Amino acid sequence: MRCLFISDLHLQASRPDLTRALLTFLNNEASQCQQLYILGDLFEAWIGDDAIPPDMQPVITALRNLHDQGTQLFFQHGNRDFLVQQTFAELTGCTLLPEAITVNLPAGRALLMHGDQLCTDDYEYMEFRKLLRNPQWQNDFLSKSIAERLEVARQLRAASQSKNAEKSMTIMDVNPQAVTQAMTDADVSLLIHGHTHRPAVHEDTQDLRRIVLGDWDTQGWYLECTEAGESLISFPITDT
Ligand code: MN
Repeated sequence: MRCLFISDLHLQASRPDLTRALLTFLNNEASQCQQLYILGDLFEAWIGDDAIPPDMQPVITALRNLHDQGTQLFFQHGNRDFLVQQTFAELTGCTLLPEAITVNLPAGRALLMHGDQLCTDDYEYMEFRKLLRNPQWQNDFLSKSIAERLEVARQLRAASQSKNAEKSMTIMDVNPQAVTQAMTDADVSLLIHGHTHRPAVHEDTQDLRRIVLGDWDTQGWYLECTEAGESLISFPITDT
C-alpha cells in the first residue's frame, strides 16, 4: 500500500510550470499509488465550481483519469480553495474531506489538516477564516456574478497580502499548543499538514510527529507513506 500527499501547489494561470509539474506527477508517481491526498491550496484561488478557469481543465481531467485507473483521491480545503464543492468532487472523482480527519495510513493512524486552523496566534486571520467558512457568506458570494466574485476575490487577496507583510514569521506559523491539543483530541501520534510552506518532519521527545508538506515553486514536494513509514520528498521543477 502506497499513499501520497501533496498540498500548497497554488496553481494559477501565471504559473503554467506548476500545472505541468502536477500533470507529470499525476501521470508518474501518483499512478503508482493507491491513495492520493490533496491537503489544500491546490489552487491559488477558487471562486466556485461553476467558474473553473480554462487553465485548470487539464488538472480536472488528469485527476479524473487517475481516479478511473483506480487511485482513491481525497481533497481537503485550504484557505485559498475553500469553495471547492460537490461539482468539483464529481468531475474529478475526489472525496471531499472535513477540515480535520483521522485516517489509517499503512504505517499507522494520522490526523490530516490543511494547517491554517492551527495558526491561532494570528487572531486577525482566525476571525477572517470564520467569515470565509460561514455558509451564509459562501452562499452570498456564490450568488454573485463571476465578474463580481473575481473582484471580491482580488480585494480579499490584496488585503491579506498587505496584512501578512506586517506579520512576523512566528505569528504565521502553527501554535504549538494548538498542535498538541488537536493531536490529543484525535488521539494520534502523527499529524500531517501543509499551509505554512515550511516543509519538515518534526519529532518531539514523546514520539509525537508533525510532518509539514511543502509548497510547490522551484521545487515540488510530496509525502510518501508505505508500511515502512513516511518520507517527505522534494524534486526540482524545471520549466521546460
Ligand atoms: Mn494555505
